[in-house]
Amino acid sequence: MVAISGNTQLLGVIGDPISHTLSPAMHNAALEYLGLDYVYVPFAVKASDLEVAIAGLAALRVVGFNVTIPHKETIVPHLAAISDLAQQVGAVNTVYRSDQGWVGTNTDVHGFLAPLRSLLWNWSDTAVLVLGYGGAARAVVAACHDLGCAQLYVSGRQPERLAAFAASWPSLSVEALPWEARTACLGDIRLVVNTTPIGMSPHREATPLAAEDLAQLPATAVVYDLIYKPRPTLLLQLAMARQLHTIDGLTMLLHQGAAALEHWLGQPAPTAVMATALEAALAERSPPVHP
Ligand code: NAP
Repeated sequence: MVAISGNTQLLGVIGDPISHTLSPAMHNAALEYLGLDYVYVPFAVKASDLEVAIAGLAALRVVGFNVTIPHKETIVPHLAAISDLAQQVGAVNTVYRSDQGWVGTNTDVHGFLAPLRSLLWNWSDTAVLVLGYGGAARAVVAACHDLGCAQLYVSGRQPERLAAFAASWPSLSVEALPWEARTACLGDIRLVVNTTPIGMSPHREATPLAAEDLAQLPATAVVYDLIYKPRPTLLLQLAMARQLHTIDGLTMLLHQGAAALEHWLGQPAPTAVMATALEAALAERSPPVHP
């Protein structure tokens, strides 16, 4: 437990709801390990209070903060500047101080990429299927662009929103697949990313792709689910049963958090310490599995 002093510096996360957040566990473990007089606190901020809340955080000399649902997009006009990456994604998840005021960036892209970079693939041969077209899907598409992926397919259930999403990347080849057709090109896909909440606790029995769909993927395919509760999701369990490489959302959460901490502190984040704290916090909140 951090001992609060007269010099303790504040970090935090704003969102609504916020009580579920695992970020304080990982950041406070890192701050304690580094021996820094900082504390990371969750702040429940209603959409209607966003502007006054971030002015208040500035007045309190908060060093930086994370941003989660529902503020990732709506915070943009209230910031002094945003990074090119946040501009490209259209969302901010990390805010830090500058002489001009708050600056927003997006570390979800880095968090998503971290476990993929270690695969050392030739990404220019890789076709990717992204399920869902929300905020997280935007970070995934920006990340796949950064990797240089050959082809991107995005699938979602509302045709107009899907078409608008695909059209919002004019310099990329992003093909929209109606939800009913999401399995059409699986034979060519080497990376599948679930950015929908399908399969998230308590709906553990749900999956956006069934075992027979996963059977169509090449044996070298990777299945990446942004969900971390349950861990693994049914989608990842089915992919494991097919002996495919799988990545879960806790890895992304960890690396987006580590990148945010590095922005605030200007020093490397202790990722192993943060991973242990995240796993412990998640285990504490997960209901026991009954046979
Ligand atoms: P979001 O903006 O609400 O987007 C969710 C997307 O899923 C939308 O495209 C939505 O389509 C689609 N969807 C929802 N239910 C569906 C269904 N039954 N069938 C088909 N599509 C469905 O949410 P987000 O911020 O992108 O987050 C998405 C997921 O990623 C969440 O599970 C979140 O926890 C996770 N996430 C994880 C991390 C991490 O660090 N691990 C970071 C960010 C997000 P409609 O508009 O048609 O409903």
